[in-house]
Amino acid sequence: MPTMRQTYTVTVPEDPPAAAFPFIKQEMRRKGSMSGSVLVSTFVGLLINQAKNSKSAQGLVGLKNLGNTCFMNSILQCLSNTHSLRDYCLHNSHRRDLNNNSRTNTALMEFAKLIQTMWSSTSSEAVSPSEFKTQIQRYAPRFVGYQQDAQEFLRFLLDGLHNEVNRVTVRPRGTVEDFDHLDEEKGKKMWSKYLEREDSKIVLFVGQLKSSLTCSHCGFCSTVFDPFWDLSLPIAKKGYGEVSLMDCMRLFTKEDVLDGDEKPTCYRCKTRRRCTKKFTIQKFPKILVLLKRFSEARRTSKLSTFVNFPMKDLDLREFSSDNSYNLYAVSNHSGTTMGGHYTAYCRNPNSGEWYTFNDSRVTPMSSSQVRSSDAYVLFYELTSSSRM
Ligand SMILES: [Zn+2]
Repeated sequence: MPTMRQTYTVTVPEDPPAAAFPFIKQEMRRKGSMSGSVLVSTFVGLLINQAKNSKSAQGLVGLKNLGNTCFMNSILQCLSNTHSLRDYCLHNSHRRDLNNNSRTNTALMEFAKLIQTMWSSTSSEAVSPSEFKTQIQRYAPRFVGYQQDAQEFLRFLLDGLHNEVNRVTVRPRGTVEDFDHLDEEKGKKMWSKYLEREDSKIVLFVGQLKSSLTCSHCGFCSTVFDPFWDLSLPIAKKGYGEVSLMDCMRLFTKEDVLDGDEKPTCYRCKTRRRCTKKFTIQKFPKILVLLKRFSEARRTSKLSTFVNFPMKDLDLREFSSDNSYNLYAVSNHSGTTMGGHYTAYCRNPNSGEWYTFNDSRVTPMSSSQVRSSDAYVLFYELTSSSRM
């Protein structure tokens, strides 16, 4: 449905879950005696104020479709439910971090303003992201006019936000190549080099990928470390049974042979050789974004294979160190890559309850409905217990 312009009424439960804020429940019982909304400037003040209104409490607010903007709305809802990013905006911490390279009216300012509106709105009306959209289009006119890819938009947005609050304004010069160390050490060194250049709150989405290329002729192995914002997973194909996210992760990290036209040039042999290539995840990020790779052979078709992914305790120990992740948001895509429609399933960071965000419409859902073959971009958060 590329043109969904109609405005829906926001439907949220009469009594929004407020387990994380027990004091709010008491306030709500007395809501009959409350008069008009009072504008308060503090975060807690906003939360109390919005909770007095039983509709649209705590981020459960829809976003108007401005004409083919469901891809944007879907990603915005996923980010709005990214706990630490939301708080970063609600606490106005981003203002302190805005660097001099950023102009007065920035995409981040608009983004934060939108998040603040979504988390403080006392109206049941859907919010219009038009100012945010205008700002985005100033930087990227390509995100206008027709249906876009949600993942591309996510990466563009995070990269843009990061640049505005990157604490490094003058990037150190010098090469970042040629470390003659063991891989482990080299990985760490490359990561600290990365942080010397890129240091912002948004880096919580960034991990580090190691790619190694081994020459089949002389055995020379060259390794490269690259930061990643998301991992695009190939869909494991099985003759029977269901495909799991772990199958896709294993396929992603499986050794691959580069031969024929794909033969790379070996650094030592100085000629093109048959090589084996392998990806390893050197460093997992706090927020792990995984996505289902669209079929490469036919760009216009998408794989509708159902990939079973865990909601809790995505255990990635076989790929790296002690890591466990919980799912908190999914950007769904239905239809084909040429058209189709995006929605988001998000777990409210305050209540832990799941909701469907379909442009202007917000509806509660059961966590058992979250997994579907429409799941396209998965947002996982590192569990704090495994941080040590
Ligand atoms: Zn070689």
